[in-house]
Amino acid sequence: MRPQVQNSAIPEAAVSTDFEVTERRFQARGLIILFLLSALVFFAFNYWHAGSQLPGVLVVMTALVLLFPALLLSSKEKLLVQAESLILWFALISSLIIGLTAGPTGGLSSAVAFPFLALHLKGRRRGLQWSMAWAIILFAGMQIAAQFSLASAQNERLLWQAGVALLFYIGIALMLNRAVGAGQNSDEAAAADQGNKEKLAYLEQIAYHDSLTGLPNRLCFIEILDKEISLAQERGHSLMLAHIRLQRMFENRSIIGVEASDRLICNIVATMTAAVGSRGVFARVRRDEFVCVYRQHSEEINATEIIKEILAFRLEYKIDDFAVQVSHTIGVASFPQHAQDAVTLLHKAGQAMLQAQFANQNLAFYDEKQEQHFVRSHMLFSKLQEALRKNGLSLHYQAQVDLRSGTIIAAEALMRWIDPISGPVSAAEFIPIAEKSGLIKPLTLWAMREAFGQLLRWRAEGLNLSVAINIPARCIMEGEVVDELRHLFRTCNLPAGSVILELTEAMFTDTPAALVQIVASLHKMGFRLSIDDFGAAQTSLSCLKDLKIDELKIDQVYIRGMANDGNSRAIVQSTIQLAHNLNLRAVAEGVENPRTEKLLQDMACDVGQGFYFCKPMPADVFSQWARAWQINKRAALSA
Ligand code: C2E
Ligand code: MG
Ligand code: MG
Repeated sequence: MRPQVQNSAIPEAAVSTDFEVTERRFQARGLIILFLLSALVFFAFNYWHAGSQLPGVLVVMTALVLLFPALLLSSKEKLLVQAESLILWFALISSLIIGLTAGPTGGLSSAVAFPFLALHLKGRRRGLQWSMAWAIILFAGMQIAAQFSLASAQNERLLWQAGVALLFYIGIALMLNRAVGAGQNSDEAAAADQGNKEKLAYLEQIAYHDSLTGLPNRLCFIEILDKEISLAQERGHSLMLAHIRLQRMFENRSIIGVEASDRLICNIVATMTAAVGSRGVFARVRRDEFVCVYRQHSEEINATEIIKEILAFRLEYKIDDFAVQVSHTIGVASFPQHAQDAVTLLHKAGQAMLQAQFANQNLAFYDEKQEQHFVRSHMLFSKLQEALRKNGLSLHYQAQVDLRSGTIIAAEALMRWIDPISGPVSAAEFIPIAEKSGLIKPLTLWAMREAFGQLLRWRAEGLNLSVAINIPARCIMEGEVVDELRHLFRTCNLPAGSVILELTEAMFTDTPAALVQIVASLHKMGFRLSIDDFGAAQTSLSCLKDLKIDELKIDQVYIRGMANDGNSRAIVQSTIQLAHNLNLRAVAEGVENPRTEKLLQDMACDVGQGFYFCKPMPADVFSQWARAWQINKRAALSA
């Protein structure tokens, strides 16, 4: 849905008229008080000195009827115009009363101010209309008074002279009003008008533009995009919207400072806008996020070209003689393919950008399925948090079997989560979500404590096993995780080698010195260190040289395939030899059938793990199964 955006935005009243209104209200009230006092004085004068008391009574009554409501109306800004009209009505009626009762001379002498008042209160056009109405009413009134001999001194010549005089007063008032307008008010008005325009322009600028770069902001961009969409609809063309997020700007900011980082942003904007030129409109929608709509109304958009162009945005900038690298992630959505309106299109380009970020890529095109995946990931993330808080997770255990003796030597702890609504969620789905969101650290700490507890219980029951715990890449570098491992190992008083830490290999593409140290210290403490899924990701053999590890766990892709695939067999055999040459234990996971077990035994693989031996199971089921296995070995399997 499109938000309601006012066209050219700011209502004039909001900017300019506060002062004017106060001034006008002040004037109107002044006039009301003045007229009320004058009416009272007129009444008093009539009462004591004049022959007739009627004009005074009529004028006072008119004042009461018209000026009190005028006073009330003047308190409301919207009704001020009506209050001013009532003041004029009073002036008109009272001069008519005086004119009718005292004759043209009396009427005129008391009413000459009317045109000046009308022009002042109502402006030139409306003031002139009021004045003409005043002249006609007054002239007609005097005619009637003459007809019915209401006034004391009247003759035809005098009446016409009075009529001319009325027009004469209007003329003077008009000229004066114009002269004052030209000489003074018009200057002020022009200045005020100019000031208001500037104020408006300024307010519009800050409401619709980013103050640092001067680019349109989100609000403004939605309007622009709306227009582009209408135009594209009319002409039957497509549009492309790129959402660009500058990466690691927070780190840059903390190194180069806020001021330099602002300059950096301006440089980036200059580069990007120059690259896109007149074919696109840029906007800054968040601190480090920009959007650009490509408008190519004349021909079909060539997506590949545009993407090349975006990706070619300069990545290195010089700020204060320092070279700063800025990488960006781009999401692209297009009209009419992905959305029909501006807000949805903007949302989808943003989603595509998040998809790119999630997949560790520079660029992603909006993908409906990916979005569903993304939405599910978000949903699972919040539910997983809750599950961790509310004890909704458990560990299952899968046996690791010594392939020479057939005894169970260890159990790998594998996390399980059954969501009350969605049902069981596989570890392969929720562990990556936890890894990407940072939730993996509390999950790992929880799994470590659980697994240590279970190991103690098994040992107390006489089941002599090791336990293998999965520790993902980023966690082993966390002080808290390492400290907790040391603490648990010490307090549980476990023999060396009884806890295996399975480290995922992806982390070892390069081996930071800190990691080498941590692994060495854990090894020294008595932990067995294993590299999980060896051969799955980008394999870096350097980690085997640098890290003090104890075993290689060959990725199950090769193990599951080795029974039927010669290449897999060759890879497995070489890896086992590599492990042995490095004095490491070779562990094969994914053993699904006796043929694979036999092949592994022939290759002198040390340990096997897989569905052929057992599937992961809850701790109590596992201990029963393990006891039976230890007693009967193969008999338990075939039973
Ligand atoms: P992994 O550490 O390599 O664990 C082995 C996975 O392979 C387990 O899947 C296990 O059930 C499965 N598996 C074992 N033998 C066979 C077999 O013969 N055939 C087949 N098809 N699969 C077999 P699971 O439990 O779904 O775990 C998947 C991954 O999730 C694990 O791979 C591990 O990377 C991660 N994970 C599981 N539990 C935890 C945990 O507590 N902490 C961390 N950080 N990661 C965990
Ligand atoms: Mg593992
Ligand atoms: Mg594995």
